Amino acid sequence: MLNSNGSMQHAQFVERSKCISCGSTSLSVLSTGLFDDAPLHDFLSADPWGEDPIPFLLGNRWSFVQCNHCNQAFHKYILAPDWNERRFSQWMTQEAIDSFERSLNTPERLFNKGVQNTKHVLQLEKLTRELRGTTPLRLLDFGCGYGEFIEMCSLYGFDAYGIDRSSARRNNATFERIFQDLESLDRHDFHVITMFEVLEHLDDPKSLLEALKGYLIKGGVLVIETPDCTGVNSITTLSEYRKIHPLEHINAFTAETMRNLAESLGFESIKKPTSHVTTDPIRVIKTEVKRMLGSVLRTNTQQYFKKL
Ligand SMILES: [Zn+2]
Repeated sequence: MLNSNGSMQHAQFVERSKCISCGSTSLSVLSTGLFDDAPLHDFLSADPWGEDPIPFLLGNRWSFVQCNHCNQAFHKYILAPDWNERRFSQWMTQEAIDSFERSLNTPERLFNKGVQNTKHVLQLEKLTRELRGTTPLRLLDFGCGYGEFIEMCSLYGFDAYGIDRSSARRNNATFERIFQDLESLDRHDFHVITMFEVLEHLDDPKSLLEALKGYLIKGGVLVIETPDCTGVNSITTLSEYRKIHPLEHINAFTAETMRNLAESLGFESIKKPTSHVTTDPIRVIKTEVKRMLGSVLRTNTQQYFKKL
C-alpha cells in the first residue's frame, strides 16, 4: 500500500505503557528489536500469509517487557485497531489460516486434543454437580473457533454456547449457538466459562475477564489455557516465536501471572479432579503414582478457577 507520497506505508502500533495485569507503570524491557532483524524476520516470512505483512512492518520496533511489580510479561507495542483489522482481513486470510493449521494438525496432535477435551468435560461435570443440581451444565466457550469443544460438550448433554469474533469461523462451524460477541448472549447464568488460547491475544485481557465474570454464576468455574511462557524472555528460537509472536501472542503468561490476574478479579484457584482418558492401564498407574508424589499438581498455564 502506497501513501500519497508514493512511498510504502508503515503499520501503526500503539503503546501499552501500563502493566496489563496490575496497572503499574514500572516496566523492564526483556528484549527488543526491529521487525527487519533476524531471526524474527525469517520466522515471519516462513509463515503462510494472504497479503505479505513484512513490507509494512519494516522499520517498526517490537519490545517485550515485564512488570516490576507483578512479573507479568507482554508486548509493549501492539497493532493499532485499523491495522489489526487489516491483519485479520488481509494478512490472515482463510487460506493462510487453513494452510497454517494443516501444517500443525497432525493426526497425533488432533487425537491428543480430543483426549484433552474429554478430560475437561469429565472434570467440569464433576466440579459442577452441586452447583447445578438436576439442570444441564450451562457452558460458554469464549473464542470457540469452529466450535469443536462445544460440539463435544453438547454430545454429553451440556447446554453449550460459543463466541467467536471471526465470521469465517462462525460461518464454517456446524454448531448453531455461536455468537459474535458477549452482548449477543441473552443469558448471564453459566456454570462454566472456558477460554482456550484466547487471553494471550487480547489488547486488554483484564477487562475481558472482568466482563466474563458477569456471565458466570457465583461458584461457577472459569477455565483458562494459554501457552506457558515460563523462561521465555526473547525471540531467538522458533518455539519462542510461537509463544510470543509480537503480532499474535501479545501477552505472555506463566502459572504465577495467570493466577495473579484471575485472583485480582475475585476468582479462586481450584484443583482439577483427576481424570483418566486412556486405554492403557500402565498410563493410569503412572499418573496415579505421579499424583501421589505430588508432581501432577504442579501448576501450569491450564488452570481452573472458581468465582467467589
Ligand atoms: Zn503488573
